[in-house]
Amino acid sequence: MVLGFLRWALALCVVLSGSAGAQPAGVSATLPVIPLTADSPTSVDIGANVAYLLDDGRQLQLEQAMAEGQPWMPVARTIPNFGFTNHAYWFRLVLDNQTAMPMARVLELPRPFLDDVRLFHLLEGRMVNRYALGDEQPYAQRAIQHQNFVMPLNLEPGRNLVVLRIASSGTVEAPLRLWQPAAFYEASARGHLMSGAVFGMLVVMIVYNLFVYLSTRDRSYLHYIFFVTSYLVFWGTLNGYAFAYVWPEAIRWNSVAVPVAIASACLSASLFAVSFLKLERFSPTAHRVMMGMAWTSAGLILSAFVLPYSWLIRVTSGFILVVSVAALSIGYWRWWLGARFARFYCLSWTAVFVGVSVLTISKFGWLPSNFLVDNASQIGILMLVLLLSLTLADRINTDRGLRIDAQSAALAHAKKARASQQALLDATADANRALEERVRERTTELNLTLDQLRLANEQLQRLSMTDSLTQVGNRAFFDQSLVTEHKRASRLKQPLALVLLDIDHFKAINDTYGHPAGDACLQALAQLMRQQVQRAGDLLARYGGEEFVVLLINSTLGDALELAEEFRSDIAALEVPFEGRTLRFTASFGVASAIPDMLFTPSQFVGDADRALYEAKHSGRNCVRAASPRLRKTEATDTV
Ligand code: GH3
Ligand code: MG
Ligand code: MG
Repeated sequence: MVLGFLRWALALCVVLSGSAGAQPAGVSATLPVIPLTADSPTSVDIGANVAYLLDDGRQLQLEQAMAEGQPWMPVARTIPNFGFTNHAYWFRLVLDNQTAMPMARVLELPRPFLDDVRLFHLLEGRMVNRYALGDEQPYAQRAIQHQNFVMPLNLEPGRNLVVLRIASSGTVEAPLRLWQPAAFYEASARGHLMSGAVFGMLVVMIVYNLFVYLSTRDRSYLHYIFFVTSYLVFWGTLNGYAFAYVWPEAIRWNSVAVPVAIASACLSASLFAVSFLKLERFSPTAHRVMMGMAWTSAGLILSAFVLPYSWLIRVTSGFILVVSVAALSIGYWRWWLGARFARFYCLSWTAVFVGVSVLTISKFGWLPSNFLVDNASQIGILMLVLLLSLTLADRINTDRGLRIDAQSAALAHAKKARASQQALLDATADANRALEERVRERTTELNLTLDQLRLANEQLQRLSMTDSLTQVGNRAFFDQSLVTEHKRASRLKQPLALVLLDIDHFKAINDTYGHPAGDACLQALAQLMRQQVQRAGDLLARYGGEEFVVLLINSTLGDALELAEEFRSDIAALEVPFEGRTLRFTASFGVASAIPDMLFTPSQFVGDADRALYEAKHSGRNCVRAASPRLRKTEATDTV
């Protein structure tokens, strides 16, 4: 299985440390020989059993490289690894077929990202076979269609010389392995299975989280998917599967896919840190730092087709380390300050760092080589992918907890608000009821008062219209009634009659028997007349001191004269007991009658009766006189 992008980081370290993995120049190397017999193992790790030649101008041809005096050197490390370099490197070794039969073998170079790989197979100075490979050649041209560079060799008995030239703008590595064809295909099938498993896992994570994103619309998922996809592209390109199965024709793209995928991983990791750790709210500085990295990554992606590959691969490899350290540090900071959801996030990135560290240490030969150690960085990355997914699930859970808390708090508040509202409504209803009750009480009181007031008013009116001494209507009452009746009679064209009477020599009664005696006479007279004036509509009033008036509706002069005569005789017969004495008196009467009209006013009517009374007085008193129509007419003319 191919080691992850961290291999690049490691290679970078090698370059930076200045180690070329070679012995000092000038030391001549013997030609390594690998003996092959019928008992040789099915696969032989060639490792450092090659001599190499630095071709710093990339100008040497095979003949020149093989010429006498070239400074071929042995490889000091376990495998040839020259880090990032622009030079070409030549390798050579002898495969010594010690049997008597030709031997079929394949030489595998599991570094599919190498730009240019050329192989020359020579036997006793004669060219047996040659291959031109590299990721800048179309995939279909490969002798064996495999994601790695695989070269079949038919080894004749004797010393077969194999010369390889590698030039690449990335790192130059040559971990060569010689296989029996059957063993190679078996191992290859196992490798495919493992890669398929990793590929399947990554695709499942992408698809699953895509569904989660579609239902939650949480951007963190999108960034996560972006990150895993970037890694998938990186991994697929690095191990040659992408070129073999996805873009076998896209040579130009294939040459930049690795740095683009690394920059894209930087971009998505930065964005994931921003959205997942909610940096915008947490810390403006942290937010600025991660966004700065995101923009830088985006710039690197865009510049992939412009900048030289050798420069781009170095920058992106270094930059992913910077992004990882920043994302992890901010994660721990967030966790330290109480964000529990950051714990899986930290764990994820920590797994990658542990993986890288294990790999790095093992590369220095301090750890035994086994499956776990060899694949530590790969395992670290897969742990990252898995744990980040778990992280997202964990945060959904945390968020849901918070949401449930908030919802129940909101519910409690709503309940409280409803209770308060109900209480307010109840209080308002109570207040309204109390108010209505009070209004009713007040209204009743007011009505009572109004009734009393009306009664008092009526009484007052009655009192104001009644003569207090005789209890008959007073002058005001008469004047008002006369106007009313005058109008009515005028409208109905009915006759109206007036009887005016004045007690004769009343002054003498007062003078002789005293004022109370006069009062007693007035009361007795009033009582007498009240008994006579019973017809509805007729009315009796005291007109002045000892003068009374009777208004008769719908009555002719004759009717009125008759009634006046009755009064007169009754009064003359009246005996008023007063302090043991019996008082007697008479009265004089003036009578007038007419059907009133506009030319005959109430005061003219009274004037007529008054004149008739005056006439009665002059006629010797105790008699009845009627107002003459002539007189009335004259008077009327005079008035006008
Ligand atoms: P005549 O026959 O010409 O009418 O003579 P008279 O004395 O009745 O005439 P006069 O009008 O001069 O007198 C009326 C008197 O009535 C004068 C006044 O003292 C008296 N008088 C008026 N009002 C009252 C009252 O309310 N009570 C009493 N006791 N006397 C009254
Ligand atoms: Mg008088
Ligand atoms: Mg009088």
